[in-house]
Amino acid sequence: MSRLAQTAGLTDVQQEILSTVRDFVDKEIIPVATQLEHRDEYPTEIVEGLKELGLFGLMIPEEYGGLGESLLTYALCVEEIARGWMSVSGIINTHFIVAYMLKQHGTQEQKDTFLPRMALGEVRGAFSMSEPALGSDVSAISSKGVKDGDEYVLNGQKMWLTNGGSSTLVAVLCRSDEGHPEGTAPHKSMTTFLVEKEAGFGEVRPGLTIPGKIDKMGYKGVDTTELIMDGLRIPANRVLGGTTGRGFYQMMDGVEVGRVNVAARGCGVAQRAFELGVSYAQQRQTFGKPIAQHQAIQFKLAEMATKVEAAHAMMVNAARKKDSGERNDLEAGMAKYLASEYCKEVVEDAFRIHGGYGFSKEYEIERLYREAPMLLIGEGTAEIQKMIIGRRLLEEYRLQG
Ligand SMILES: Cc1cc2nc3c(=O)[nH]c(=O)nc-3n(C[C@H](O)[C@H](O)[C@H](O)COP(=O)(O)OP(=O)(O)OC[C@H]3O[C@@H](n4cnc5c(N)ncnc54)[C@H](O)[C@@H]3O)c2cc1C
Repeated sequence: MSRLAQTAGLTDVQQEILSTVRDFVDKEIIPVATQLEHRDEYPTEIVEGLKELGLFGLMIPEEYGGLGESLLTYALCVEEIARGWMSVSGIINTHFIVAYMLKQHGTQEQKDTFLPRMALGEVRGAFSMSEPALGSDVSAISSKGVKDGDEYVLNGQKMWLTNGGSSTLVAVLCRSDEGHPEGTAPHKSMTTFLVEKEAGFGEVRPGLTIPGKIDKMGYKGVDTTELIMDGLRIPANRVLGGTTGRGFYQMMDGVEVGRVNVAARGCGVAQRAFELGVSYAQQRQTFGKPIAQHQAIQFKLAEMATKVEAAHAMMVNAARKKDSGERNDLEAGMAKYLASEYCKEVVEDAFRIHGGYGFSKEYEIERLYREAPMLLIGEGTAEIQKMIIGRRLLEEYRLQG
C-alpha cells in the first residue's frame, strides 16, 4: 500500500525539494517543536535552516534570486512543514503572500528593491488587513493614508499581524481618499502601502509601534501582534504598484495564495495527527489486545485517513488551478474550508485514541489539539469561505433566460 497524501505527476525537481524538506522536518523540527511551543519560543535555528534550504525564495522568480517554483511546490512544502510544526508554516506564509503581491502587482523598482532580499530571507514579510473592529468585513477598514506632498501619512490601528514583530516589510491595507471622491465603493478606495521597519517591538520607526506579542492558545512561537500607525510617513513610491485604489484587489489576490497555504497546513497537521493516532493505537492494549484491533478504533483510523486523502487532493487541485494562471477562488475556498474542518476532526479523533494521555502535555497530540482551531479562522473563516463558494456557484450555474 502506498502512504497517504501522495501527489501524482511531480517533476524530479519537485520530488527532490520535497524529500529535502521532509528530511529537514523529521530531523530538525519534529524533535524540538513541542518543547519550543510550550515555551512560546521563536524557532530561530529552524528559520536559519529554512533560509539555508532557500525556502524563503521558493516561489520568487529566478531573476530575483529565488527558486522560481510553482504554488504547488510551495503548498506541498508547507504541508510537510506543518506536519512538523504548524507555527513554522505561518512564518513563511505571510512572507510569500507579500512576495507574491510584489511579483504580481509591484512596480519594477519595488520588485528590484525587495524580491532579491526576500529570496534570501533578509527581508521578511507580514501582511495586514485586519483591525480591532473587523476581520471578515474588509470593506469596513478605517486606517487611513492621506497624501502630503511626496508622502502619505498613515493613521490607524491594525490587529492580528502574523510575524508582526519579526518582519521587516509589512503590506498594510488602508483607505486612501486621494483621487477617489466621497461615495466611491469602499473596495475601490483602498491602497496597499509597503511599510519598511526594524524587526522587534516598541516604536520600530517614527510613527509606527508594534506593542508586543498577543498571548494565544496555540500557534505559539510565531509572533502575532498589533500595529499602531500614528502619523507614519511613507514615500509615495511605496504604494504597491504605484497607483492608489488597487489595494483591495491586490490583497484578495494575495489571500488566494494564503488560502492554499492554510489548506496545506490543515493537510500537514491532519497527517501528523493520523501518524500519531495509528502508532499509538498499535501500542496501547485494552481488553487483552492492541486498541487498533477493536473495530471502533479501526473505523476511526479509516475515517481519518480518508479525510487526509480528500483534503490533500483538493489542496493540490487548488494550487494547480492557480499555477495554470486561472482564477482559483472557488477551488481555494473549497480546499481551505474542507482541509481546516477535516483537520480539526482528524486531530480530535487522534486525541480520543490517546485516551487520557492525549490530555497530557507530554504527548504531541496536545499541541495539535490547540493548533487546529486557528486554521478554522485564519485567511477567512468557514462562513466566509462558504460565502465565496456559494457566490461562485451561482455565477457558474446562473439560470438562463
Ligand atoms: C492567530 C491569528 C493570526 C492572524 N494573522 C493575520 C494576519 O497576518 N493578517 C491579517 O490581516 N489578519 C490576520 N488574522 C485575522 C483573521 O484573518 C481574522 O481573525 C478572521 O478573518 C476573522 O475575523 P474576525 O476575527 O474579526 O471575526 P469576525 O469577522 O468578527 O467574525 C466573527 C464570527 O462571525 C462570522 N461572520 C462574520 N461575518 C459573517 C457573515 N456575513 N455571515 C455569516 N457569518 C459571519 C465569522 O465567520 C465568525 O464566526 C489572524 C487571526 C488569528 C487568530
